[in-house]
Amino acid sequence: MDDIIVKSSSHSYAITIGENVRFLVDNYVTKKYSSILVVSDKTVADLYANDIMNSLKGENTFLSIVPVGEQSKDIRLFYQLHTEAINHGLDRQSLIIALGGGVIGDLAGFVASTYMRGIDYIQLPTTILAHDSSVGGKVAINHELGKNLIGSFYPPKAVIYDTQTLQTLSEKEVRSGYAELIKEALIADGAFLNSLLETDLFSLSTKELEEHLRTGIKIKATIVEEDEKEAGNRKYLNLGHTLGHALETELGYGTITHGEAVAIGLLFSIHVSELMYATKLPYNPLLKWFKKNHYPLDLRNIDEKSLLNIMKSDKKIMNKMIQMVLLKDTGQPTIQELDDEDLHSYLKSFITK
Ligand code: NAD
Ligand code: MG
Repeated sequence: MDDIIVKSSSHSYAITIGENVRFLVDNYVTKKYSSILVVSDKTVADLYANDIMNSLKGENTFLSIVPVGEQSKDIRLFYQLHTEAINHGLDRQSLIIALGGGVIGDLAGFVASTYMRGIDYIQLPTTILAHDSSVGGKVAINHELGKNLIGSFYPPKAVIYDTQTLQTLSEKEVRSGYAELIKEALIADGAFLNSLLETDLFSLSTKELEEHLRTGIKIKATIVEEDEKEAGNRKYLNLGHTLGHALETELGYGTITHGEAVAIGLLFSIHVSELMYATKLPYNPLLKWFKKNHYPLDLRNIDEKSLLNIMKSDKKIMNKMIQMVLLKDTGQPTIQELDDEDLHSYLKSFITK
């Protein structure tokens, strides 16, 4: 099938999606690079690094492996990758390949954006969630004081998405990725939402998955092409993330995946939207679908005050008001400012719903 082309302010890049495209990575590295550094995490490297290294089969091709998980989006790992790049002799004509999920894409992409003032990089996403993170050029590491606070806008030269690698994902990671697809559908496409809600995550076919990824990526690509640096509409992609991020921080990374937290955040956004705009949104069908697919949704033991404090410290706060993405209807997102009191009462009514 055709590539999806994304236009960024610096260049256009192609997203190639298909089964087994990882064996052809060499074909997509069209420019002659002096050396290549493939960055991956331990789990993904054990599964797929050989396929990539064999496809590249060049002399100056190196592999760096970082530990699995969010803790690798860290200044120490960032520095270590620079050290490895220097030791391997990477120069301004070198390439970095990010082989993995969103953690690797964000980390390796950020390294590429700073190494010798910026070298090319290519994304090889291996999670469903990474359909979101590999497109749009946001790269970052975390600061002790908050997620993604150190980063830049630095689009990749290409995205090569092998849907076969998604077969080895755990159920939790499948759920995580699908929450972001649901988010894209809620923002832009009611028909897409309906088809997602008919999907059973436990009997998902590769064909179905590929179709969903293509639609999700097209929605994301359209938004980031219009607003690359998040001055306006790109903020809509934060739907569900105000509460989602707070839950991740409160429960601790690793307890709940990013997407599982976003799923709860999406329900919360819909709850607030329905009350604020007196509109009817697909709260119940979504809740039913999340339950059917075993999303963790229980908030009974959650510390509501603590969640509220985290939301207030979120970097999207402007003028002491919390900015939340809400929906006037499916496909009609809007930004709404809420003060602490409103947010607290909405949160209370959501948790006890
Ligand atoms: P991840 O990269 O940690 O991957 C999740 C888990 O799946 C890891 O344990 C990983 O080892 C494993 N894994 C990856 N591919 C696998 C495969 N094919 N088979 C088996 N196991 C595999 O996390 P993620 O959920 O992909 O991404 C989350 C990160 O993405 C967060 O840090 C988030 O901030 C970031 N993100 C960035 C953007 C952006 O625009 N830059 C957008 C959304 C999310
Ligand atoms: Mg997200």
